[in-house]
Amino acid sequence: MMRSLQQHAGSATLLQRYTTMLASHQAEHYIDVALDQRAKLQQLDRLMGTVVNQSFDGIMTFDQHGVVRTANEAACKLFRCAHRKLVGLHMKALIPDLSAFRPSPHAEPGGDPEKRLEGFVRRPDQTVCPVELALRRISIDGQSWAMAILRDITAAKAHEANLRHLAMHDSLTGLPNRLLLKDRLDQSLRAARRSAEQLNLAILDLDRFKEVNDTLGHQVGDALLVLVAKRLVDCVREGDTVARLGGDEFAILLPQRQGMCTARDVAERIRASLREPFSLAGCVSLEIGVSIGLALYPDDAETGSKLMQCADVAMYDAKRHATGVERYDPAKDLNSIRTLVLSGGLRQAIDNDQLLLVYQPKLDLRSETVRSFEVLARWHHPDHGLIPPDEFVPQAEESGNIVPFTRWTLARTVACLEAFHKKGLAVSLALNLSPRSLHSKEILLFVRELLDGSDITPSAITLELTETAVMLDPAGAVARLEQLHALGLRLSIDDFGTGYSSLSLLRSLPLDEIKIDKCFIRTMTSSPQDRVIVRSTIDLAHNLGLEVVAEGVETLAQMTALKELGCDIVQGFLIAEPIDDQALPDWTANAPWPLERASVGRERMLS
Ligand code: C2E
Ligand code: CA
Ligand code: CA
Repeated sequence: MMRSLQQHAGSATLLQRYTTMLASHQAEHYIDVALDQRAKLQQLDRLMGTVVNQSFDGIMTFDQHGVVRTANEAACKLFRCAHRKLVGLHMKALIPDLSAFRPSPHAEPGGDPEKRLEGFVRRPDQTVCPVELALRRISIDGQSWAMAILRDITAAKAHEANLRHLAMHDSLTGLPNRLLLKDRLDQSLRAARRSAEQLNLAILDLDRFKEVNDTLGHQVGDALLVLVAKRLVDCVREGDTVARLGGDEFAILLPQRQGMCTARDVAERIRASLREPFSLAGCVSLEIGVSIGLALYPDDAETGSKLMQCADVAMYDAKRHATGVERYDPAKDLNSIRTLVLSGGLRQAIDNDQLLLVYQPKLDLRSETVRSFEVLARWHHPDHGLIPPDEFVPQAEESGNIVPFTRWTLARTVACLEAFHKKGLAVSLALNLSPRSLHSKEILLFVRELLDGSDITPSAITLELTETAVMLDPAGAVARLEQLHALGLRLSIDDFGTGYSSLSLLRSLPLDEIKIDKCFIRTMTSSPQDRVIVRSTIDLAHNLGLEVVAEGVETLAQMTALKELGCDIVQGFLIAEPIDDQALPDWTANAPWPLERASVGRERMLS
């Protein structure tokens, strides 16, 4: 356009006309631009309005008096209120307690935590809603307004609570776990300290639960634990905490208030409740015992962890003595034995000659002679005194120290047999074989080595093993027992009747003997039902070609009854308590029953 103007430079009028034209063109252009700008602004305004309205977060403005002036859709939804009703309400009606808002844990790291807060708003329908809130001052027409951005965090809070619950509860039973128990214990201790009250802690461990798990499977074990948990909760009051510590171990926290029944009453109530058989789907009904240890604040311990330790010691004490419930007794604090055994103290005990064997005779009822002894181990500890085998054998099984211990007992048993035979006595010895030892290849090789290096008859050794040991790995056990039997050793199932083994499995094992557990013998003269069990076990064993031993015979009445039922051998305090090395020569010389002499013994062994 400028070039065409210069071409007509001679004509001023023309130039003027052109200039006027140009000016009007420019004005038009400016008007166009201004109109365009306005449209764009309006468009932007609409766009912003849509963005604000469609925002997931609630956005509201409050005027200088704190009155709602605008609210987007999300805000209306959050407050469950129509826009026209929300506008005009005062901030205080919706956010009654701003001072209770706390910095949001989701605030950006390093950002100003005050800017993002967490708290509750109140809806016009009077319900409350957890929100995350950002409040800003804004200036509108020189006046100070406020803008609030609100986010409904109901779902996030529920999720958080769920996670917290999962972290603090046992997923199987839904009971508080060890973590939550510790929390509640600390809390209760603080309260007890303030009000000078006592606090009881009970630790419970189910008896023989491992056998249920090993023999009936984990699913049955789990189902049983769920039922046990329910019964425990039913035995306590609402404010008491029942927790699952893991496995078959539970804890109960009982604040002791005036007039309340004592922890021992609760413990007895629990025992009675658990004694009732549990019926599980697809399974016979199960009975389960429990051992309960009690510890009292402040008498036994002042801190939570010490109180737990004391209750644990008491629980072990109850288990060891089969008393059901024990209160912590510092004199019996054998907690250190557990640590001692687990940390390899048993190996040192072998090296330092602290282990010894005692012998309990088995009386043959037909010939009225003692043909064999059971070998039982003892640990004479310099600090802890005599530690019974059912205390250290299970610990040694756990720690892996069992193999050297079993090698030691085997070697001593063979040496003892040689000494007996040198004296012309043809007695045999029975040795208890722990579950892990049965499955250990090393033990098999060691037995072979021992027999090769000795001239004792292998059948002079009987290995006693429990049903549980077999059920741990039935196929493996059958193979291993066949190997041991092939070496000439006799095999016996110990504590018969207390495990969950199947009869068909027993039939497939190369057994020579069954030992009926002492719990049936104890009650057989008073309970007709137990007498029937004993009688059918004897008949069954005889049908399978096995010898029957009754253990734990304490009275003449029991021995007479056993004789009537055709039992072959009896063992128990009535005949003799386990006898140590020093007392053995005297006992064998003066026993009321003769001992098997070598010549007779050899014939029997050869036959
Ligand atoms: P067990 O094999 O059932 O041994 C019988 C237990 O009952 C022995 O306890 C014995 O002293 C006790 N007893 C014997 N007669 C009577 C009686 O008339 N009445 C009562 N109430 N009890 C009686 P002990 O010696 O404390 O042994 C406990 C368990 O420790 C044994 O039970 C056995 O499973 C295990 N054990 C003992 N020695 C060894 C060992 O050398 N190796 C392994 N692996 N385990 C052993
Ligand atoms: Ca035994
Ligand atoms: Ca036994």
